[in-house]
Formats: sequence, structure tokens, C-alpha cells
Amino acid sequence: MKGKAKLMAVSIDLTGKRGVVFGVANQRSIAWAISERLAEAGAELAFTYQNERLRQPVEKATSALGSPMLIQCDATDDDQVQAVYDQIKNDWDEIDFVVHCIAYAERDDLGGDFSATNRQGFRTALEVSAYTLMPVVGRAAPLFGESGGSVVTLTFDASQRVYPGYNIMGTAKAALENEMRQLAVEFGDRNIRVNAISAGPLPTLAARSIPGFRDMTRAHRERSPLGRNINHSEVANTALFLLSDMASGITGAIIPVDAGYGIVAL
Ligand code: NAD
Repeated sequence: MKGKAKLMAVSIDLTGKRGVVFGVANQRSIAWAISERLAEAGAELAFTYQNERLRQPVEKATSALGSPMLIQCDATDDDQVQAVYDQIKNDWDEIDFVVHCIAYAERDDLGGDFSATNRQGFRTALEVSAYTLMPVVGRAAPLFGESGGSVVTLTFDASQRVYPGYNIMGTAKAALENEMRQLAVEFGDRNIRVNAISAGPLPTLAARSIPGFRDMTRAHRERSPLGRNINHSEVANTALFLLSDMASGITGAIIPVDAGYGIVAL
């Protein structure tokens, strides 16, 4: 198994490819695991960080890659998203891929009764976790070259099935998945592929704020066909594949990286 994974790693070469990663908060972020993998495959990366507070941890994580471009961006502000691409266009002219790993819900709207979700909390979760994919892809589109490009976003099984505690984030993931499909259709004629990875539970900063996260993790471990939880590298490998020409025929898809949990009924 280890040997096979290694063989795949050398067969995907992203030398000469450039992309932007939204959503690194620290070294446990899924976006960081993906970034490490992309960099190992030879890609050049630019990173955004949400706010000043996150600059230092993002700088620390990304320093392993030399001094990549770091740009502050609150993705709920379209002008900030545009400014990211304006800066990247100055330095690079074109990009080949974008990674969207952004999600947030107010703590009060995670856990408790779903019907009690506060209207503003609904807006916040949907705006940050779903809406942001639209400007992140739409404003990237002019930077993709003639050969097109690839976008990956991150979703979770709670878009389809109810995970107590995940509440409004399940609604946001359902919206995100629908947007992903609509964007795949909109940009398909320019060979810009848009896909999602539906990852099993992974311990990250965002996951820590989900009540019931431990129960979710245990259920996946005990009931998935593979009988274990997934790890960050498995998501990163799938992202590498989707962002490479190896996945040239795949768009509008949700690839589960969940040890098979999604197929199990009982
Ligand atoms: P994380 O906390 O490391 O990443 C979440 C990121 O969202 C952070 O970098 C944060 O800065 C960013 N973000 C939040 N609001 C933002 C805003 N307004 N503007 C810009 N960035 C903003 O956690 P993670 O688990 O790596 O999450 C990455 C993605 O993976 C999310 O979409 C999450 O829902 C998804 N996901 C996570 C799991 C899991 O179990 N951890 C499973 C499936 C899917």
C-alpha cells in the first residue's frame, strides 16, 4: 500500500503549475495538507489568510515552502477577493488551479435545536461556507490560461444526511455542492473544472467547534468499510489528483474520501 501511494506521487507532476490556496489557518488545516502535497509535486503556491490574527500561524506553516506569496483576504469581501487575484496577476499573469477550504458558523448555531438557528447565523454560515466559492471561482476565471484550470472545494456528508450538532453547516454544505455543480457547467466550455472532496472527519481548528465531532469520528471509524478514520494525506492526495491533468475528464463531481462511510446504511 505504501509503495503504491509513492508511485502515484511521482507520477503526478505539477512542475510549472501555479495556484492559489484559500483556507490555511495552521498546520492542521486540510488546506495545508493539500498545499504540502501540491508543493511536493512541484507546484508554486500563493496563500491567502483570513485576517491579521492568522498571519503569523499561516506564515509559520508556509515558511516550509520558502517565502510564498501571502495575501490577506476575508472572502466575504468581494473587493478583497478581487485584490488577491489582482496581486497574483501582477506577479504571475496566469494560474492553473484554486483550492477553496473556507467554512465558518457561529458557535451558537452549532449544536442545539436546528429549528432555533438564528437568522443572522444562517446568513453567516451560508455566506462564508457556501457563497464564497462563487467570487473565489468567478474572479479567478480571467486568470486561467487557454488550457483551462481546476478548482477543488471541501464538503462533508452532512450535506445529505443529518449529523446532530453540525446543524446549519449541513445546509451550507448542501448549498456549496450545488454551487460547485453550477460553476462546473458555467466554466466547462473554458475547460475550467470544479470539483469537491467530501472528507471524513479530521481534527482541525474548524472541526473543534462542532459539538459531537468526537461521535462523528467514532461512527466513521467503527462503521466505515475500511474500519478506520481517514487522514489528512488521503484528502491531499485526492486534491492533487483532481487538480492535475490526470483528472481531465472529471468536473462537477463530489469525490468521497471517507473510508467508504457514505455507502453504509446500518
Ligand atoms: P480550518 O479551521 O483549518 O480551516 C477553515 C478555514 O476557513 C480557516 O483557514 C479560516 O481562516 C477560513 N475562513 C473562515 N472564514 C473565512 C473568511 N471569512 N474568509 C476567508 N477565510 C475564512 O479547518 P478545516 O477542517 O481544514 O476546514 C477546511 C474545509 O474542509 C472547510 O470547508 C471544512 O468544512 C471542510 N471539511 C472539514 C472536515 C473536517 O472534519 N475537518 C471534513 C469535511 C470537510
